[in-house]
Amino acid sequence: MFKQTKFDLPQSKLPTAWYNIQADLPVPLPPQYNPVTKELLAPADLEPLFARKLIEQEVSKERYIDIPGEVLDKYKLWRPTTLHRALALEEYLGTPARIYYKYEGMNAAGSHKPNSAIPQVYYNKKEGISRLTTETGAGQWGSSLAMACAFFGLECKVYMVAASYKQKPHRKTMMETWGAQCVSSPSQDTQIGRNILATDPDCGGSLGLAISEALEDALNRNDTHYTLGSVLNHVILHQSIIGLESMEQLKIAGEEGADIVIGCAGGGSNLGGICVPYVKQKLEGRNIRIIAVEPAAAPSLTKGKYTYDYGDVAGLTPIMKMYTLGHTFMPAPVHAGGLRFHGMAPIISHLRHLDLIEALAVNQNNTFKAGVIFAGTEGIISAPESMHAIHAAIEEANKCKESKEEKVILFNLSGHGHFDMSAYQQYLNGSLEKYEYSCDEVEKSLQELPLVKE
Ligand SMILES: *Cc1c(COP(=O)(O)O)cnc(C)c1O
Repeated sequence: MFKQTKFDLPQSKLPTAWYNIQADLPVPLPPQYNPVTKELLAPADLEPLFARKLIEQEVSKERYIDIPGEVLDKYKLWRPTTLHRALALEEYLGTPARIYYKYEGMNAAGSHKPNSAIPQVYYNKKEGISRLTTETGAGQWGSSLAMACAFFGLECKVYMVAASYKQKPHRKTMMETWGAQCVSSPSQDTQIGRNILATDPDCGGSLGLAISEALEDALNRNDTHYTLGSVLNHVILHQSIIGLESMEQLKIAGEEGADIVIGCAGGGSNLGGICVPYVKQKLEGRNIRIIAVEPAAAPSLTKGKYTYDYGDVAGLTPIMKMYTLGHTFMPAPVHAGGLRFHGMAPIISHLRHLDLIEALAVNQNNTFKAGVIFAGTEGIISAPESMHAIHAAIEEANKCKESKEEKVILFNLSGHGHFDMSAYQQYLNGSLEKYEYSCDEVEKSLQELPLVKE
């Protein structure tokens, strides 16, 4: 019998509005606080850093927000992305489950991140900003922002976490090809970078630290704003296009919907993007499990504390309520994938707190095992981050095999791993370390939480 494995939406059916989960939350998101005064954050406090339109989206309660035409024009370079049925993986596992994945690695930057880079650059340009700064961990966000800045003619400076800068030199070249400047973080270009290098010249860096550098740079110049590739509400809003497309595609595939929705979680943007429309369905009464999969090396949702914290080491970002390991937490540089952020998006944290999503932490050797099975069956060499989702999808499919249940499992394959060959090589050599986070380190960094006037 013929079984279709690719489900494409015609470009004429590309969603023209993003979905905003804030419209449907049963309990609103907790407020945020100003990092300096520790008082309630006013939207104007963010204006030195972000475009006004993005600040509006950050707090908007509109259910659907129109995607500007110029943004749609760029999305059309690769969207809608394909929904695949993982038939070969199903056969390999011998599961009665039907496994679907949305593949976000088929654009020039190689991950879901351009979905937000493009609107962020667009809105900043519209408001007269000519230069953007950002941080990047494994390099995907920096590449995406560099590409989007090239499209709209903005200057771009990327602070790349030192450990990845060494491991993935080609990401830097990619950013430079798109006209951006990329430096290793901590760098000599900011005060916080110089301070850290003075005490620890070999510091491997962290996302929180690179964020501090990018923020300091942006705050010091009038022509410059800062951008963040994950965590914030407006980023999850932009990423909702993934989930919206997937719902239409599941219909084309003849499915009523998904029973289990899975995404890997670093800052929470690709998971948020695929899951928010399903959270809406869940709130309307559909029985759906949503699973966030994080690395055992930085397990904020499973081992962190749900409390107020900064998004960066220096304490420059708004103080947000989230699951956090403490903003001074430095994940081990031996961890191969990205997903090293100390906190989790406020939206994802809130959904976890309300028990609308589940969370799971996985060791990197187990995720690579799943990634290699996936490469051998579906062919795609996935990003180490995305393997966390693959791992959970395989586990759920195996459970279906035991219980003989024909569940529909949907996961987001957030990107390809073509720049991660050294990590694959380490895994294949058996030299990838089985690293888990240290309780002591987390205890220590949780002692430095900010106190807000709640
Ligand atoms: C950045 C990235 C992630 C992690 O970030 P989220 O905000 O949690 O999505 C996951 N996968 C890929 C491919 C990425 O580039």
